Amino acid sequence: MLSMRQIKDRSEEDTFLALDIGGTNVTCGLVSRVGEVLSTDIFPTRDGRTPDALISLIINRLKVLWATADQTHRPSALAIGAPGWIKPLEGIVVTAPNIEGWVDVPITKIMSQALELPARLENDANLYALGEWLAGAGKGSDNEITLTLGTGVGAGLILGGQLWNGSFTSAAEIGHIPLGPAHTAPCGCGRLGCLETMASARGMARLAREWLEAGRKTKFRGSPTELNTEVMTKLAERGDPMSLDVFQRAGTALGQVLAGVFNLLSLERAVLGGGASGAFKYIRKAIVEYLSVHLVTAKIDEIQIVKGTLGINAPLVGAAALLNAGGF
Ligand SMILES: [Zn+2]
Repeated sequence: MLSMRQIKDRSEEDTFLALDIGGTNVTCGLVSRVGEVLSTDIFPTRDGRTPDALISLIINRLKVLWATADQTHRPSALAIGAPGWIKPLEGIVVTAPNIEGWVDVPITKIMSQALELPARLENDANLYALGEWLAGAGKGSDNEITLTLGTGVGAGLILGGQLWNGSFTSAAEIGHIPLGPAHTAPCGCGRLGCLETMASARGMARLAREWLEAGRKTKFRGSPTELNTEVMTKLAERGDPMSLDVFQRAGTALGQVLAGVFNLLSLERAVLGGGASGAFKYIRKAIVEYLSVHLVTAKIDEIQIVKGTLGINAPLVGAAALLNAGGF
């Protein structure tokens, strides 16, 4: 990784294009070399009805973003964040369960040829983590994990001041760490009882639906399909027993997994981002309760569990970190 000093020593005139392909939205951005987001364009992933149509749409939107930008800031490279199983070095999205029809898509080559720019592919959660580490809540920490609580639970690991990809460029799949034999809810990966069946936005909505089906007491008065973490966060503020219980259980599951991760790697910080991080204060409480008992590599007040600060800009900022580190 380049330090901020090394980054500043290089040309600050040029910029990077950033692309985050999500199951719900696609975010395009123009970012400076130091991670400042100059302009963004967000549109629903479903606007591209087939894989080819989505790729054409993304190319057009990136070209418009580029054309409308200050022309003294010429993009020098593109970073692509994609979910699912990817091969970053080969630039291929092998499968993306939340994006219909994406199988073995050579996304880096396609984008690079269409935009006449060098391109790099990275896991979307890794880009998010790089962003928080460069300019957000992970700044200043050389050993930390950033979690994204969204449709699933993603993560990116910074170890020794570098993004950790592991042997198969697939590290930090924290959402699929099993919670144990008592947990049997089906996960999107086809297995049972993974962390994200409890701690993703989707998993928390499932826990709430089960609470409703059991006829237990709650202040929620809508249809079960309207249950999401935003609604539950508002209900929790009013002391709703269902929402408080769901956040407690999701936080305990996260605490269980994070205790293992912190104890294995001696981390100093976990950053929580993603769409469900609005419930941060409730989830954090349960995580800290669990870690207070099970953390053995540091005292509980020596580590930090903090909320991400960059939101949807995090992967765009992370694009600058990735491309700087790649020497672009
Ligand atoms: Zn799973």
